Amino acid sequence: MEQPIYTDHKVTITPTLAVIDGTTYAIQTINSISVQKLPGGFGLMHFIMIALGVAAVLLSFGGFQSRDTGPAFVVLFIGIALIVPGARAAGRESGYSLTLATSSGDRQALISKDSAYLGTLRRYLEAAIASAREVKPAAALAADTKDCPRCAETIKAAAKACRFCGYEYDKEPATIDG
Ligand SMILES: [Zn+2]
Repeated sequence: MEQPIYTDHKVTITPTLAVIDGTTYAIQTINSISVQKLPGGFGLMHFIMIALGVAAVLLSFGGFQSRDTGPAFVVLFIGIALIVPGARAAGRESGYSLTLATSSGDRQALISKDSAYLGTLRRYLEAAIASAREVKPAAALAADTKDCPRCAETIKAAAKACRFCGYEYDKEPATIDG
């Protein structure tokens, strides 16, 4: 593996690869990186769910005292179905996601409570992407050009005439003697 530009216990970033939480991403396939706040934590919605759930459970207790306990079971079930996800959300802390926009869609590469840490990773990844992109246009440019046989200026490969000296590729032979 190449010399890493960043490494910690979960993440290794090299100029061409990023290994994040056990998954390897090619730097070239990453279009952009963002740190996103994940929906989660305890909100008003969860409070309402738990309150309605408790109300449903209490209501069902009244129902069990009647002869027909069928509806009471339904109401009890609804109550539990409201309380359980609400309580689970309450116990879950909100966090942040390091999201990579790749050619095959968005990936939540790493989830952490520490947004500053994810921000640091984002900066290293963006630096790797930027340097990977810098190399690419130069190589592409070299392939698309040729040197004029008369004046030696670099011109576009598809050019039929040199824009510096007027040398015409169609008219004159490729080699010039004198
Ligand atoms: Zn020329």
